[in-house]
Amino acid sequence: MSKTLACCNKFITKNEAETLAVGENLGRQCRGGEVFLLFGDLGAGKTKLLQGLAKGLGVTDVVNSPTFNILKLYKAKSVKSFCHIDAYRLNSDKDLSALGVQEFFDDKNTVTAIEWAERVKKIWPQGARQIRIKSLSEEYREIIYS
Ligand code: ADP
Ligand code: MG
Repeated sequence: MSKTLACCNKFITKNEAETLAVGENLGRQCRGGEVFLLFGDLGAGKTKLLQGLAKGLGVTDVVNSPTFNILKLYKAKSVKSFCHIDAYRLNSDKDLSALGVQEFFDDKNTVTAIEWAERVKKIWPQGARQIRIKSLSEEYREIIYS
């Protein structure tokens, strides 16, 4: 993958393997307590990137889109667990609060990631990191994270 700017975390990936690699690298850097907010259209690669991130955390179970479950918790290795949330089907922040997500945000042994984070703006914890993915073509993606 090419890193286009030296100052920012901006990558262009040309296939899903490269997006997985960006995620895996990010996962390896996690120490626990990180919350990632994912933005990008359907098919942008949010779940792909998080599959890589989970691998980087040492999750061995298959990470799938939790769309139908909203929240899935995986056992990890470098931290205790990886909490994968998909807010696509939620109508309000309250729905997510009701699931007790605050507990995961606050847990220093858990890494949390939220797809469709724009739907649950009110619950974004302070210090959450943003990952924006944009489709540039069939296979090229722009990934920006902070
Ligand atoms: P989202 O979770 O954002 O809806 P997914 O990760 O589920 O998206 O799906 C991304 C789709 O795009 C997959 O079918 C994947 O194979 C495809 N794809 C093609 N090129 C890339 C790329 N560079 N990075 C990530 N996914 C890609
Ligand atoms: Mg997804």
